[in-house]
Amino acid sequence: MTEPTTPLPAQLETAIRTAVEARKESLFELTAELVRQQTLTGQEEGAQRIIDARLRAAGFAVERVQPDAEAALADPYAGYPALSYEGRSSVVGRSPGSGGGRSLHLNGHVDVVPVERPEEWAHDPWGAEIADGRLWGRGSGDMKAGLAACIVAAEVVAEVCPDRAGELIVSSVIEEETGGNGMWSVLRAGHVGDATVFGEPSDLCLDHGGTGVVWAKLTAHSSSGHAETAKRSGAFEELAAAVAALRRLEKERNSPPRDPAFAAVSDWPFGTSIGKIEGGVWTASTPERLAAHARIGFGRETEPAEVQQEVVEAVAAATDQVTVEFTAFRARAYCHDSTGPWPDAVAAAHRTVVGTEPQTTIATATADARYITGPSLCYGPITGNLHGRDEWVDLASLEQVAGVIALAAAAWTS
Ligand SMILES: [Zn+2]
Repeated sequence: MTEPTTPLPAQLETAIRTAVEARKESLFELTAELVRQQTLTGQEEGAQRIIDARLRAAGFAVERVQPDAEAALADPYAGYPALSYEGRSSVVGRSPGSGGGRSLHLNGHVDVVPVERPEEWAHDPWGAEIADGRLWGRGSGDMKAGLAACIVAAEVVAEVCPDRAGELIVSSVIEEETGGNGMWSVLRAGHVGDATVFGEPSDLCLDHGGTGVVWAKLTAHSSSGHAETAKRSGAFEELAAAVAALRRLEKERNSPPRDPAFAAVSDWPFGTSIGKIEGGVWTASTPERLAAHARIGFGRETEPAEVQQEVVEAVAAATDQVTVEFTAFRARAYCHDSTGPWPDAVAAAHRTVVGTEPQTTIATATADARYITGPSLCYGPITGNLHGRDEWVDLASLEQVAGVIALAAAAWTS
């Protein structure tokens, strides 16, 4: 894996770029088709069927991988399963090389986060409208476009480089947005490449790191009854005291951030957000339960279990009326090498296709890349409004991503 990648012969490079260009409409159509599938957690199968069929048509041997919920719970870095895995699986396609070469795993996640207020979108969140050089919709940027680019790149390399030495592995996983057990289980099933690329939105940068992430659900308990019994303070204030305790931990972690890799990209890389609140049914009733769902970021100096312990202790010190549960993520912070044969191959392909010197970056969020121990990068298109209103992907950059990944994949596996 330490051998530098030999540049592709000019003729082969041209053949690959021509093949990607010929599939441009197919790339955009696949992205649109995937966006139209409302692949919220638990509803991934419509998109997975499309990808399964597409990989089979390109000659890949396709299998499904279902996470083992008990094994995931037992692994301190896997996710807490979001739902039952009945009828839900990741798709893995493999196309072997002639042998003796380096393999490459190309990955994307098919799950998307919910839409909060669809009526306030200018573009139908599930319509995959194309306007102003962009494709709009939930999951367009994060990350159905990048997933489609990985699939098209793999199709091109399988077709144009049938004699390559290394194997191509393509996976479309579930639950990246809620714990990461899709990719975790795919790797555990043995689908491990000598290098990995994730088509996650990176604005054409080589993204090689991400923060740790833990999710915590804080629940304030009280006894329900008529508001005539209400006193000066109630469940809401208890919950607010617990949230304030999380904010104090957040401030400690960011003042200043101890992990230099993350301090270099942000003065507040380890954010805590309260993304969802729930509880109560009537204004003149005191609630039985009020809950706040928190996402907590942290650096490489801290283990997920340590963060969980800090949260339990800080909340207990602030109030005895709030319980803490942990859901979804037990993600470690990670930072892969930004140089070496694989990043260098992607950088060279970027120079060829985009014509500029690529930037490297790391993210203040997590990705399934944290599970990879060898060379790994996220490399994806220019996008906007991820997880927000009117999410989009820039189509010109999407075509470039397919070209860059195809060239890097061909060079890596040659
Ligand atoms: Zn993503």
